[in-house]
Amino acid sequence: MVLDKAQFPRDKVCAGWITPAVVQALQLDAEDYARGRVLQPIAAFRTGLIHGRDLETRYPATVSFGIRRREFDHYLLERSGARLRLGEGLASIERRGTQWLVNGAITTPLVIGAGGHFCPVARHLGANLGAGEPIIAAKEIEFEMNPQQLEECRVRADAPELYFCRDLKGYGWCFRKGGYLNIGLGREGGQGLADALGDFCGFLAQCGRIPRNIPDRFYGHAYLMYGHGVRKQVDDGVLLVGDAAGLAYPESGEGIRPAVESGLMAAASVLEAAGDYSARRLQSYADRLRARFGPEPEAARTVATGSLRSMVARVLLGNRWFTRHVVLDRWFLHAHQPKLLMT
Ligand SMILES: Cc1cc2nc3c(=O)[nH]c(=O)nc-3n(C[C@H](O)[C@H](O)[C@H](O)COP(=O)(O)OP(=O)(O)OC[C@H]3O[C@@H](n4cnc5c(N)ncnc54)[C@H](O)[C@@H]3O)c2cc1C
Repeated sequence: MVLDKAQFPRDKVCAGWITPAVVQALQLDAEDYARGRVLQPIAAFRTGLIHGRDLETRYPATVSFGIRRREFDHYLLERSGARLRLGEGLASIERRGTQWLVNGAITTPLVIGAGGHFCPVARHLGANLGAGEPIIAAKEIEFEMNPQQLEECRVRADAPELYFCRDLKGYGWCFRKGGYLNIGLGREGGQGLADALGDFCGFLAQCGRIPRNIPDRFYGHAYLMYGHGVRKQVDDGVLLVGDAAGLAYPESGEGIRPAVESGLMAAASVLEAAGDYSARRLQSYADRLRARFGPEPEAARTVATGSLRSMVARVLLGNRWFTRHVVLDRWFLHAHQPKLLMT
């Protein structure tokens, strides 16, 4: 059973960029999906520093897709075949022997916390939601362009634009998906987010990249990068997946792929547990996460926030080879990470 506080289709604050690994892991039928939904192929990127020079990197084939979360999440939910309890938030969760009692009405031996960064199941496992965790805070808008905006928009649909903050503590994006435009910016910690976003939008307008008169109401959200904070992922009768477990890639903030892959890994471990959902039996899920996403969080933090990387990146962002092979292939496309093979 899927319990979600929202009714679907619902909006989700997200740029909606997915890498081919997501399409593969979900066994997404692209032709079926694209019927009446946005599936924007991406074959190039424009990158640079905000207020700096940019450069375009083009690939010989499609390297990513743009989707709208409103459509994507609804499609997956319907395809799942799960029993749905929508429009109902998780209000209470109590342990009764080897069972859980959820909202005083649902009895289950296993709960999978998939409620995103502020997941109440993560809170139940001791996560310090909203306080003390080194989050990324981001704001964005997504809107359908009118004919005048379509004419004025110079962002090409197959070439999203990424511009880094000068202190390299975040980046802004401008992402056209068919007739929709998504503009946003994310920063470590969230300090200075509003100013950085205002500065970024001013820069885009000044360069004439975006239409005049875009909506001014941006929507925000926060989340945790893998290695930046430690959340307990497994306990008796319970697992956390996706943002609830803090799995997004630290270099890019891509969180859909880790959310999907962790869901698949959780499913494999649950099946293996064959009805014994003790923390000991479910530990294989935590082991799978570590094998997939890398070393213990403490070790990963050193790599992700190393000042050496920041210094080097600042100098090399204008370099074609570095942009293509490190910024795009490695940080954003994670092309070095093989497909998830479930054993
Ligand atoms: C501005 C921004 C842009 C981003 N852009 C990208 C991108 O382009 N590509 C990418 O890969 N990642 C992106 N991310 C990250 C990505 O959105 C997340 O990592 C991803 O959505 C995590 O998926 P999830 O299923 O774990 O959580 P979510 O997508 O947050 O889903 C959580 C679900 O739980 C439900 N829920 C929450 N609380 C409760 C409750 N109390 N009771 C019941 N249900 C509840 C919610 O309604 C929601 O449906 C972006 C994030 C932000 C903030």
